[in-house]
Formats: sequence, C-alpha cells, structure tokens
Amino acid sequence: MSYLRKIEYEMIPSDSFSVIRGCAKCGRKTHFTSTEKFRVNANGNQLDVWLIYQCEECKHTLNLAIYERQKVSSIPKEEYQRFLDNDKELALKYGTEMQLFQKNKAEVDAERVSIAFVKKYEAGESVENDSLKNKFMTTIHNPFKLKIRAEKQIAMVLGLSRSQVKSMLETGGLELIEQLPQKISFLVGDGGFSQTD
Ligand SMILES: [Zn+2]
Repeated sequence: MSYLRKIEYEMIPSDSFSVIRGCAKCGRKTHFTSTEKFRVNANGNQLDVWLIYQCEECKHTLNLAIYERQKVSSIPKEEYQRFLDNDKELALKYGTEMQLFQKNKAEVDAERVSIAFVKKYEAGESVENDSLKNKFMTTIHNPFKLKIRAEKQIAMVLGLSRSQVKSMLETGGLELIEQLPQKISFLVGDGGFSQTD
C-alpha cells in the first residue's frame, strides 16, 4: 500500500504591512510602519477614522483612511470604542487588510511582510499510484493574497533556502502543481520535510 501525505497550511500576516512611499520630510522613498493607533475626527454627525502610519526615519505621519465622512450611526458602537481605545487587535486587522492600502493608494512592501504558517490539516491517504509513495502534497492557502513568490513560500514552509528550492524544482525533487494568488500546491518527497517537524 502506498501513502500520500497531505498537508495544508494557511499563510497569515503576523504584523501590520509596511508601506513604501516618498517621504516629504526625508525627500526620498522610505518605509512607513503602523503606529497601531487610530485618529478619530468627528464633525457634526460625520466621522473620519484613520490608521496612523509613520516614516521609520523621521516619524513623519501618513494617515490611511478607514472611514471618510461616514455617518456616526453607520459605524458599529463597539468598533467605534475600539478606535478610541487604540485597540491593538483592530489595528492589526486593518494593518493587514489589502483593500485599505489599495483604497489609500499605499504600496505595500511584499518583501517585508512578516508571516506565520498555521498548519490546518494533515492526513495520510492510500493511493494506487506508486510514484506518489511517501510524497507530500502540500497546499499553502493565502487568503490575504500576499504577493510572495511561490519559491519563497515553499522555502519558508520547508525551512530551506530559496536556491535549494530552485534546484529541487529543476531536478524534479519538488513539483509545483498549482499556483494561484489565493493558494499554491506542490508535491515533494519526504526528504523535503526532513528539516521541519
Ligand atoms: Zn521621513
């Protein structure tokens, strides 16, 4: 009997995204990072809420609009209170929401995204095909559609270097089955997992 092992991971951001942008004060492109603080501005019954970013070099601020001229009544009370409290969890939620950055025309530095892999599923499956024996069908789900190259994702999951992954792809030790913005799947022999749990 041959077994194919199936493993599924979910790739999630573990820290707020950083933004690359020209800083007016520094006079060049720098990185802006989240302060994990909100700015709330009430004007009559209208509300603006921003997530505050700042230049790493000079602390010049960049406000990312979450709500603009929104009716106070349309914002959930509980969320409004969390804005006022500078709730860190909520700041992380918005700081990893790609739509927020797109809406604000802020360029996320994909190379800098710190991520965590959460194992969601693992099982063995008996297969007829002997060529799949002792192989791992691994899927990495990418619900945030983080723009990280497939080789890099694989390298991080397997605990290998990118060049090791590249040569394994070339020699057939590793086979990329599917490559989509929301997930990748690859087939690897048990040697590929020797350096992880
Ligand atoms: Zn600056």
